[in-house]
Formats: sequence, structure tokens, C-alpha cells
Amino acid sequence: MFALGISAAGTAVVTSAGGVAEFDAVVLAAGASTSHLAAQVGIYTPPLLAHHVRFTFAVDGSGWQSWIDKPADGLSTYQHEAGPGRWAVGGQVDAVEVAWERGRESAVAASRRVIADYAARFLTVRPEIVDSLYCTTVPNLGDGVEFRRNGPILAVYGDNLMKFAPVLGEALAEAAVSGTTPSVASLAQDRT
Ligand SMILES: Cc1cc2nc3c(=O)[nH]c(=O)nc-3n(C[C@H](O)[C@H](O)[C@H](O)COP(=O)(O)OP(=O)(O)OC[C@H]3O[C@@H](n4cnc5c(N)ncnc54)[C@H](O)[C@@H]3O)c2cc1C
Repeated sequence: MFALGISAAGTAVVTSAGGVAEFDAVVLAAGASTSHLAAQVGIYTPPLLAHHVRFTFAVDGSGWQSWIDKPADGLSTYQHEAGPGRWAVGGQVDAVEVAWERGRESAVAASRRVIADYAARFLTVRPEIVDSLYCTTVPNLGDGVEFRRNGPILAVYGDNLMKFAPVLGEALAEAAVSGTTPSVASLAQDRT
């Protein structure tokens, strides 16, 4: 999708490689691309991005499936088994080091240094990094998820959305049909 608009009749106008098409409803869930597409139809979602990398180490049987660590002092991490003999570690690296304007290469190098040092000091993994996974995050959102609507277009954005994907999919489909705007509070209420 290249562009989004709203027609005089109130339908959503989508421009893509396939041409221009009109729809009664559009759910915009384009991750890092959401902000600029949403802005085209007057919806604000945070435009700032940061770099993030998760690194994988070899381990001789950790005996653990996952681990989240948020010490008062020191590096916050999330860690999990990433296959047999593989342990993946992501950390909350200094925001300045992973800021968008630092560039991917510099942010990856800084993250690699921090996580390798952490692993050497605190984990029983082998010290070499055997794999990595890069992505972008929205700074300061934490586990937040937000919904914004303008007419027929409903945008969703947030960080750590994967674990909520089944609930979000259902809620977004319902909202697209009914024309309503979900909220975290309404989702929690509907499911308790
Ligand atoms: C290393 C790592 C670890 C993570 N761990 C967790 C975790 O443990 N738990 C958790 O809940 N979350 C986790 N996340 C975060 C989670 O993956 C994201 O929050 C989630 O994927 C965001 O969903 P989204 O639909 O907003 O964006 P995305 O998953 O980025 O999906 C957006 C989609 O839109 C498509 N798209 C983009 N632009 C356009 C366009 N112009 N036209 C058409 N299509 C477009 C993209 O190709 C993509 O398919 C992790 C992420 C990473 C990188």
C-alpha cells in the first residue's frame, strides 16, 4: 500500500501496486510504516522508531524455557530458548545508543557489545553470538497498544503486540465491521 485517503462519500481509498480501490473499512496495522500512512488520513501515531536486536548463543541445555529480568540496577533483559541448544537474549540497551539517528550499524554494534558482556558475566552460554534478529521498536511504549480511528480507517500500533495477536485480530475485525474503536480497557472488560 502506498497511500491512504478518505473519499467525499466517506469510503477508504487505498492506493497500491494493484491500483486504486475503495473500501467500506480499512484496518491499518503496518508496524513501522503505520505512522506515515496514518498521517495521510489525519491520524496521529508515534513516528519515532528505535533499533533493537536480539542475539542468540549456544548453550548446553539451559533447563529453562524463558526468563525476564528487570533489576533495579543493571540491564533489563528478556531471554528464551530459541531451539535445541540455543538461548536468545534481548536487552533494554541505552536509548541513546539505539536511537534511530545513530543508524542501524552503530546501534547493532552497541547492542552486541552490551549483550555479549552481559552474557559473559551472568549466563552459562558459550560466549560467541551464533545468530541475531533485528527489528524496530517504538521508544517508550512498553507493552502499550493503542487504537485510533478516522472515519472508515482504524489504525493500531504498539510494542510487544505479538502475544496479544489473537485477541487483537478478533477485536479489530469486530471493530472494522461495527465502526467502533476498541480500547485496552474495553478489550479487558469483554474478556473477563
Ligand atoms: C526480536 C523481537 C522480539 C520480540 N518479542 C516479542 C515478544 O516476546 N512478545 C511480543 O508480544 N512481541 C514481541 N515482539 C514485538 C512484536 O513482534 C511486534 O510488536 C509486532 O510484530 C507488531 O505488530 P504489527 O502488526 O504492528 O507490525 P508488524 O509485525 O511489523 O507487521 C506489519 C506488517 O505490515 C506490512 N506492511 C508494512 N508496510 C506496509 C505497506 N505500506 N503496505 C502493505 N503492508 C505493509 C509488513 O510487511 C508487515 O507484514 C518482538 C519483536 C522483535 C523484533
